[in-house]
Amino acid sequence: MMDSVTCSATRADGQPCQGKAGAGGFCFAHDPALREKRRAAYATGGRNKATPRRLDKLMPASLRPVLDHLYAALEETHAGELDARQASAMASLAGAIAKLFESTELESRLQALEALEGRHGTAR
Ligand SMILES: [Zn+2]
Repeated sequence: MMDSVTCSATRADGQPCQGKAGAGGFCFAHDPALREKRRAAYATGGRNKATPRRLDKLMPASLRPVLDHLYAALEETHAGELDARQASAMASLAGAIAKLFESTELESRLQALEALEGRHGTAR
């Protein structure tokens, strides 16, 4: 019976995947062909949707690769390829990076305001 075949991939925890295998001998999450498709869908889909596009404009360009890594990590965690501890470590590091950017942005806004103040000062 086809439906009794389980995925031949091994999960991150070393246990065999219990997912139901498709024609390729892998479950949906582990099928290498599907995986490429999903990655492509994530990459293009994420950028074509209206909300992420708006977010793209707000997000510093240097944070973009971090976001891509997080998307990939999310997917890998879901597929059981990424250790949950590794994933949560990534999440907290990403949070730290985001915080750093937040404070940097605040600082640059403050400097812009101060420059404006200075201009008013000399005009007086
Ligand atoms: Zn699998």
